[in-house]
Amino acid sequence: MPAGSDRRTVFACTGCHAPLTSPLSRVVLPAHAGQRYGYGLLDALMAPGTFAVDPEPYGPPWRRWAEVGAAEAEARGVYAPVSALSYGPRKTIVVPPGDVLGTTFIAGRLDGGCCGLDGRDGLNLACSRCGQPVATRIDDCGHWHATRLDPTAVYASPAPTDPVPITSWETLASDRPGTPPVEPSGWRSPQWEAAIAVTGAYLLAASTGRRITVPGGPLADTFGRLLDALLPPGPGTTSLALAGPGLPTVSAAISLVPQHPQTGDLWPQPATVRSVPLSWDVWAYLAYHRERRPVPGAGTMPSSALRDDPLPLHPSGRLEPDREIFSDTLARLPEVKQPWLRQIYDYVRTRPYTHQSWVTPPK
Ligand SMILES: [Zn+2]
Ligand SMILES: [Zn+2]
Repeated sequence: MPAGSDRRTVFACTGCHAPLTSPLSRVVLPAHAGQRYGYGLLDALMAPGTFAVDPEPYGPPWRRWAEVGAAEAEARGVYAPVSALSYGPRKTIVVPPGDVLGTTFIAGRLDGGCCGLDGRDGLNLACSRCGQPVATRIDDCGHWHATRLDPTAVYASPAPTDPVPITSWETLASDRPGTPPVEPSGWRSPQWEAAIAVTGAYLLAASTGRRITVPGGPLADTFGRLLDALLPPGPGTTSLALAGPGLPTVSAAISLVPQHPQTGDLWPQPATVRSVPLSWDVWAYLAYHRERRPVPGAGTMPSSALRDDPLPLHPSGRLEPDREIFSDTLARLPEVKQPWLRQIYDYVRTRPYTHQSWVTPPK
């Protein structure tokens, strides 16, 4: 296999060796993997032909925080109270439902909230050949559709197909210039809200409780309100800058760096700089996209006036970090044990739900 490429994988049943997926190439688990969003049917979580591995435990059995306690939760990588912890398997393999082969629904395990399956009963798909339960399909409304293969019921084998090249940072920068925060419908992008929630939690932990100076423009539009609301007032002491392929090197205490969409590697930084990761598609949009391309006026406008062409998309509502994903990420960062950050965590987590923004300072 050439260097810089990745063998495609077929997952097969441990019971009978039947193939259960088409050949898949590995990518990073999307930030919106665990997102609950609205009441409509959502898209597939994974792009066709790809899979990701979730390092966190997934699915039932669940145990409530009061039963688990802080010490055991910490041993499981959760450093602040959450309502319940999954004691399901770690490293479930997340694949698009359309790439799953040879499975049958398991009667009696097909519950969901409303329009489909939400996985509450655990494994709901069995291998069609031998009957072994192998996967959980999730396709209810408000969930990104996915099938999660149980890592104890399947094994990976190399597919007899060409390996997939690992895209270089330089090629990514020229060929994959990011996803806009607004969908063509005008609705704000839930994928963006998930990605900026994860990064927002990392940024807060990296701030060590001191105000961060965010450069104006897209970076301030995306993270400024969150940091202003949750960090103490006063002049910024910690600097933040985007760093990554194609950008000039800026010296800042915290670098917002892209995560490689296939390998998960972060754009390398000197040891003295704290790196905070951001999903490639959001990072690239912030780094490369210039929303306004003014052109001289037309029609009755004076030619000295400038207009936007095409008109920029503006979201129907304010882009907000996903609150649940923000809390879930923060709970899994050891820094949340520090009193200043725990206070912020408790404030965000216990705020009542309203139609207003959750990104507001504590009273
Ligand atoms: Zn089987
Ligand atoms: Zn529904």
